[in-house]
Amino acid sequence: MSSITVLSQHRERQSHFRQETPYISVIIPMYNEQEVLAACHKRVCNVLDKMGKHCEIIYIDDGSSDESWNIASQLGSEHHSIKTIRLSRNFGKEAAMSAGLKAVTAEAAVLIDADLQDPPELIPDMVAEWQEGFDVVDMQRRRRLGEGWFKRFTAAAFYQVMNRLSDMPIPENVGDFRLINRRVIDEINKLPERTRFMKGLFAWPGFKRVTLQFDRDPRLAGETKWNYRKLIHLAFEGITSFSTRPLRIATGAGLVTSFSALLLAVVVLTKTLIWGDPVAGYPSMMIVVLLVGGVQLLSIGLMGEYVGRLFIEAKQRPLFVVMEENYTTPTIAAGEVQA
Ligand code: UDP
Ligand code: MG
Repeated sequence: MSSITVLSQHRERQSHFRQETPYISVIIPMYNEQEVLAACHKRVCNVLDKMGKHCEIIYIDDGSSDESWNIASQLGSEHHSIKTIRLSRNFGKEAAMSAGLKAVTAEAAVLIDADLQDPPELIPDMVAEWQEGFDVVDMQRRRRLGEGWFKRFTAAAFYQVMNRLSDMPIPENVGDFRLINRRVIDEINKLPERTRFMKGLFAWPGFKRVTLQFDRDPRLAGETKWNYRKLIHLAFEGITSFSTRPLRIATGAGLVTSFSALLLAVVVLTKTLIWGDPVAGYPSMMIVVLLVGGVQLLSIGLMGEYVGRLFIEAKQRPLFVVMEENYTTPTIAAGEVQA
């Protein structure tokens, strides 16, 4: 091969990389991920390089207190643009992902965790499905490596409850790792709610969807940011922001207890009037009082959840606040052009 051919091939490759709008955007939310960021960047860049197109990587620093921001703002790439967005505090992964989706300039975006639990090597497969005409490529976990039986059991229970209560099913074992194209991103960006249960929001717009299976790896380094308190909160948020059926269950419970109380009254009255039985005292009364009191408190608490949602929505606060933003364009090394 002559050196001219090599040079022209290289120029051609370079012009692919240097497209005006990026081919895809990769959104990476991060919160105290200093141990894994460099490895994550390297692996994502390798995968994107192989696709031979100019892409965009968007890092959202969700108020990290470690070195994550400093590391991320120094990341660069020969062929891809890097956007780093720093939120003013920790707003939660859901808000960080929303910030990323607002910043997307490409025609499709892939959401991926910084801890490399979602293998970036699958991005080309996702892109292939998108090129086939699908709007959303959901990635479903085949196995959940690095997670104990209790986490797996509670996760399964959550999907069962959620899908039974909500009119809009959310796919089981599909996390946030997915590809969505422009028209779906636009619809999600239009959704105004503050309580952002992203699994539900991603399912809400519909469109043409496909699910691919994958094995989720254990975390590369660092620790999970989700404790059980946060997970229970997320589960509750998911159910109450996508279904009002729990309210109807409360009404049902009210009906059942009232009806039982009526039945009990009839039984007690008949027994007293016909057989002259003395009314059974303290224990049965305590049971009834506690039962009815419990149902009442539960129902009020449930109503409170929904009123609380209204309260938060009514304030119309922004979903996140951006403190700092950087943008780096591809830096193809000068030496490489001669190669
Ligand atoms: N994350 C975030 N904000 C948070 C918590 C987590 O941006 O408040 C990011 C985190 O840095 C990681 C991803 O969300 O890139 C998934 O978090 P993690 O690995 O802790 O969750 P898990 O995989 O255990 O569900
Ligand atoms: Mg993780």
